[in-house]
Amino acid sequence: MPTVSPQTTEQPLPSPGRPKKKITIIGAGISGLVAAYELERRGHRVEILEGRLDVGGRVRTHRFLPGRPGPSVELGAMRVPATHRRTMHYIRELGLADRVREFRTLFQDDAAYLETPSGHQRIRDASQTLVAELRRRLGSHDYDDATVLFGAWLAVRVNAIAPRRFRESIHDGLDREILGLVEGIDLRPYVYGRGRDRIDLHALFAGHPQIQAGCTGRLYRFVEDIVNETSSRLIRLHGGMDQIAHRLRDRVRGPIGRGQEVVGIEVRDRDVVLRMRRGFGTVTRNCDYVLCTVPFSVLRTMDLVGFDDEKRAIVHDMKYWSATKVAFHCREAFWEAEGITGGGSFTGGLIRQTYYPPAADDPALGAALLASYTIGDDADVLGRLRRPDRIALILDELTAIHPQLKIPGMILGVADQVWGTAPSSRGAAAVRWGKDIATCEAERRSAARPQGRLFFAGEHCSTYPAWIEGAIESADNAVREIEFHETGGSTAVVTGGCAVSEEPA
Ligand SMILES: Cc1cc2nc3c(=O)[nH]c(=O)nc-3n(C[C@H](O)[C@H](O)[C@H](O)COP(=O)(O)OP(=O)(O)OC[C@H]3O[C@@H](n4cnc5c(N)ncnc54)[C@H](O)[C@@H]3O)c2cc1C
Repeated sequence: MPTVSPQTTEQPLPSPGRPKKKITIIGAGISGLVAAYELERRGHRVEILEGRLDVGGRVRTHRFLPGRPGPSVELGAMRVPATHRRTMHYIRELGLADRVREFRTLFQDDAAYLETPSGHQRIRDASQTLVAELRRRLGSHDYDDATVLFGAWLAVRVNAIAPRRFRESIHDGLDREILGLVEGIDLRPYVYGRGRDRIDLHALFAGHPQIQAGCTGRLYRFVEDIVNETSSRLIRLHGGMDQIAHRLRDRVRGPIGRGQEVVGIEVRDRDVVLRMRRGFGTVTRNCDYVLCTVPFSVLRTMDLVGFDDEKRAIVHDMKYWSATKVAFHCREAFWEAEGITGGGSFTGGLIRQTYYPPAADDPALGAALLASYTIGDDADVLGRLRRPDRIALILDELTAIHPQLKIPGMILGVADQVWGTAPSSRGAAAVRWGKDIATCEAERRSAARPQGRLFFAGEHCSTYPAWIEGAIESADNAVREIEFHETGGSTAVVTGGCAVSEEPA
């Protein structure tokens, strides 16, 4: 695995005698911005073509009252595992270390709710029900009480995080594979709570890496992600995650064109031709080098020429999951009166997860509630509804545990994002859950493999798909590949801009 550059300043890096290149980057998400920043530090020239009017891509902070210290909500990435060292590196590098705060997640606030077979229960009261449910499912399998306690709290995380079809397909595997791996470990040090009915899964996974390592193939990545997503070592950025993108944007010196939608890519021997939408027609650009960071779910809708068969196959076949988020601007943080001080509820039903973001700088301006966060087929169900129906459904389900939402004047505004159908992403993230490690790596290599002078980056080209960490890792790798790409005798000295010509649609 590549290591993060130990440099912590934005000083130019020495690049002994390598010819300088001119690189056109498609996409100003995190991978495109990091690549631009690092290429410039190495003396290369970059320009970015971004299809939307803002940078950040799938890192998107919504401010309910722009320009005022009101509440905000993350419609894309919202937390970073402290173990994601590349992401943490850039947070420091970009001067954002003083904005780092703890991100409180699902299962961290005992007053929050869980959907259980006995209905919604406070997390602190749910253990007995969860254990009874697992014992029922296990039937005649005879495991220790502590193993069953572990299984029960793992199962509820799986229910909360995995989309419907996936969670149905893996329950058996979880029961058979993981409980077998845990039985025989002394779990007493990990059991806690007044009723000795809770178990510290993260300490257990950290103390016994053989559990995750023993999860053959299909479960490995999934277990890694659920451990990360419900870890107590998650951080957020006070003021919004989009500050990462905005700080990078401010440091990139080359032009960042907004509203520059690329609709076609042709790979040729010595250059790459991009076709971009312009009014009712298109314009073309001949570029020395191109780094494409758009998700393959978008790339496969473009006109692609000069790609080899294997590359076409991975662009076409890479699987993406959707995500849908719906947030309310509430008059006040009414959940605090119920003792909920943050974290999230596993609300179940169609809305799945509900988060209670931290208070706004000025609480008199209201509070944000991330009413529903869904992924995969659960997100598709909500995404297919008309917006008013989606909002009505979420309100209806959520008032079962939070009736205050029905109080007139409680909801001041709504923000939502259906990633599955957004033209700039056509999905939330590439999915590797359910694939063994070798298959994941083969897919990653194939996704990242260049075509002539066309290179690829983006979370889908990384070992951390669906994380900012993956976007950065892929940018790191692409920068190195571009830097060391042999020019084959053609001029690699930076020349003027790309040749542009217009043609009708
Ligand atoms: C709902 C959700 C929750 C998430 N939660 C987390 C989290 O908590 N923590 C975490 O670390 N990660 C999270 N992620 C993942 C993280 O946001 C992504 O992995 C990362 O932001 C992807 O960056 P990228 O540069 O690979 O792609 P993108 O951010 O998608 O960047 C690609 C860019 O290309 C642009 N583009 C697309 N098409 C074109 C075109 N035709 N022409 C020109 N430009 C184009 C897009 O507008 C975009 O700006 C989440 C993602 C989603 C959707």
